[in-house]
Amino acid sequence: MTVIEVNHLRKLYHGRAVVDDVSLTVEEGEIFGVLGPNGAGKTTTVECIAGLRARDSGSVSVLGLDPSADRDELRSVVGVQLQSAVLPEKIKVWEAMDLYASFYERPADWETLLDRVGLAGKRDERFGKLSGGQKQRLSIALALVGNPRIAILDELTTGLDPQARRDTWELIGRVRDEGVTIVLVTHFMEEAERLCDRLALIDSGRVVAIDSPAGLVARVERDQTIRFRPSGPLDDAVLKALPEVSDVTKSGGTLLVSGTGNLILAVSAALAEHGVSPLDLRVEGATLDDAFLALTGKTIAP
Ligand code: ADP
Repeated sequence: MTVIEVNHLRKLYHGRAVVDDVSLTVEEGEIFGVLGPNGAGKTTTVECIAGLRARDSGSVSVLGLDPSADRDELRSVVGVQLQSAVLPEKIKVWEAMDLYASFYERPADWETLLDRVGLAGKRDERFGKLSGGQKQRLSIALALVGNPRIAILDELTTGLDPQARRDTWELIGRVRDEGVTIVLVTHFMEEAERLCDRLALIDSGRVVAIDSPAGLVARVERDQTIRFRPSGPLDDAVLKALPEVSDVTKSGGTLLVSGTGNLILAVSAALAEHGVSPLDLRVEGATLDDAFLALTGKTIAP
């Protein structure tokens, strides 16, 4: 079932289209990523979806509601975590949860929610005293306190250390497993690759492609590279003779074999034939950044 449908969305700032003819659909229960470089129009797009910005043209339907006309109804089914969650420094964690819960008819049990985001022990802490990661987790809990069917999360792991980032990804995965549809704005390739079922790549206000992370990567016809240490002597010519192999280079005791097609199968078979095993084998394939580069000529990485 489609829960979000955006058609030909346009948003202008000072006469400049920062969202320019964006169309996309989000299906129930998926984690849908909006990925692109800074300034691409990702936040503006999701703000139009959440009813926080008025669009200039196009249509948006969220669970059958029009965000610009049905804002109150929308608020009860869509939870939003925005980049700059602004709370007063002195508000205590429990007070913020209690306040946000009071906005909803059927709020979640916020004590349980705090526990799930790992902040039960910070219940009485003031917002200003929380670490960056704790603030981020609180903002996720606040986005979920209304028991939304859709959660829109913007740059949710920016500024987090790698462990806090992984914990947050795990949390989002669990929220999705409970049936909440998630729209995730990000400029982190790894986040998009690990979490998202489907992704819209956005550049300069336009959708460049929509597909699964694997589907996007498969569009790149880039050579793969295999690295390994041969267990015994091996003549390069054996590998160079394979139609899949385009290049073989040596770096110390390690061989780097690049090529296309089913490279790993072809190389493994040739090695086996010569009684050689590939030790410390690593395969390096194309990434989402390669896909973005191939589609736009730019990289996402800041
Ligand atoms: P992203 O989320 O991809 O980083 P944004 O949607 O935040 O991109 O911004 C897209 C473009 O719109 C940027 O060039 C930004 O400077 C501009 N922009 C965003 N908000 C406003 C605003 N309120 N007024 C004027 N320009 C804005």
